Amino acid sequence: MREYLKFYIDGQWVDPIGSGTVDLVNPATEEVSGKIALGSEADVDKAVKAARAAFASYSQTSRDERLALLKAIKSEYEKRLPELAEAITEEMGAPASLASSFHTFLGTGHLDTAIAVLEKFAFEEKHGDTLIMKEPIGVCGLITPWNWPINQVTVKVFPALAAGCTVVLKPPQLAAYSAQILAEILDAAGVPKGVFNMVQGKGSVIGTALSTHPDVDMISFTGSESVGVQISKDAADTVKRVCLELGGKSPYILLDDDGLAERVAAATSGMMVNSGQTCSAGSRLIVPQARMAEAKAAAAGAAEAVTVGNPAGNAAMGPVVSKDQFDTVQAYINKGIEEGAELVAGGPGLPEGLDKGYFVRPTVFATTNDKVVAREEIFGPVLVMIGYDDLDDAVAIANDTDFGLAGYVDGNDQDKCREVARKIRAGAIYVNGGFDFNAPFGGYKRSGNGREWGEHGFAEYLETKAIIG
Ligand code: NAD
Repeated sequence: MREYLKFYIDGQWVDPIGSGTVDLVNPATEEVSGKIALGSEADVDKAVKAARAAFASYSQTSRDERLALLKAIKSEYEKRLPELAEAITEEMGAPASLASSFHTFLGTGHLDTAIAVLEKFAFEEKHGDTLIMKEPIGVCGLITPWNWPINQVTVKVFPALAAGCTVVLKPPQLAAYSAQILAEILDAAGVPKGVFNMVQGKGSVIGTALSTHPDVDMISFTGSESVGVQISKDAADTVKRVCLELGGKSPYILLDDDGLAERVAAATSGMMVNSGQTCSAGSRLIVPQARMAEAKAAAAGAAEAVTVGNPAGNAAMGPVVSKDQFDTVQAYINKGIEEGAELVAGGPGLPEGLDKGYFVRPTVFATTNDKVVAREEIFGPVLVMIGYDDLDDAVAIANDTDFGLAGYVDGNDQDKCREVARKIRAGAIYVNGGFDFNAPFGGYKRSGNGREWGEHGFAEYLETKAIIG
């Protein structure tokens, strides 16, 4: 049983002013796995005051001082990798193999990227007699979701610290353990007092207190569209910068090439990674209509091959994060059946052999793009297959969505795939499995307005100043 009952404020672990505690449940066992303290507005105020006081000196540190700090953080981060992975499995149900690889590796990648960007970043440029400077924006409120918990925290905290900002982190209640360990890492690395602060608690309390706080300069938020909209409204009165990283319903276009069945199988197993709880998941698989039968068979085979079970063991897929999430995903699966989508694999209820835990059957529908299951973000292991007549039709289907976070194009000819990728209205299009820590990541349309990762992510934490004459 874990008990995390203190907050990290002004370089110390302090008792909450608080509003009680909450038990957290392991989604694989439905048993209580620990307890965290819930903060109050007064805790946020204390953390913001500490961050404001620290900003005066931390914003003036040199590039070399901040590089030394980030390298010290890296050494502490690497020591705690196994504990971070265990915490992620326990809090949100990621399989151990995934938690100890991609989940924690993403944090290392964001740290290395923050170091590399800071090493080279041009903070000053001359344009004639005018000096254009980039300066840290100030005190940043960082609000994160539970689905890739360490990724979401590190993609904000590391560039913010690299840029010279001070921060107050509000992690998700459902993934409080890995955030606690990260705070311990930053403490052990010697982050100066007040530069990093963390307050746990309810979004409606801690998140709102940050969004409305007059002394917070910027909110960086990753999470749902509805909360992103609320934060934008809450932050408007104090004219903060608000960077939003929201949901998606990303298209995955497969060209009409050899190897279609293998690509369908890979896209289907890819959808089930992290129990489908990935904002950029390729959840609409757009395949040649003429080859739909072949594609459905391949998707069914791949979905049925995914082993679902104890995430601390060898299963490829664990549970979804909570009872609420389980109920939401079940409701979408039932909705798909009701609205006449063809069930290709999976379906409602627990997977065979499991009688507790928030486990979902890897599910595939074949349908059209107008159905609810093709339009709304399900955030579970549910793939929707849609047929296209020609590539113009595939692009039209891809773009017929309220979202624009990511897209995927796979096929034999890289250039042809890139041509299709150019036509998709979304922030990051992955071609034949491309991956790059320096590529900006963020949404068009209702997927948000921010850009994280690499130099673009770093730049979000900077203000522009001109000294003229
Ligand atoms: P959520 O919006 O419910 O919660 C996200 C965070 O906001 C949590 O820390 C929560 O406590 C806090 N919060 C809740 N109400 C708040 C309020 N009124 N004011 C301020 N903060 C508040 O989202 P979630 O369920 O944790 O995460 C799933 C969502 O996140 C999905 O929509 C997913 O697509 C999205 N997501 C987006 C990205 C991206 O990079 N674009 C990455 C991961 C997840």
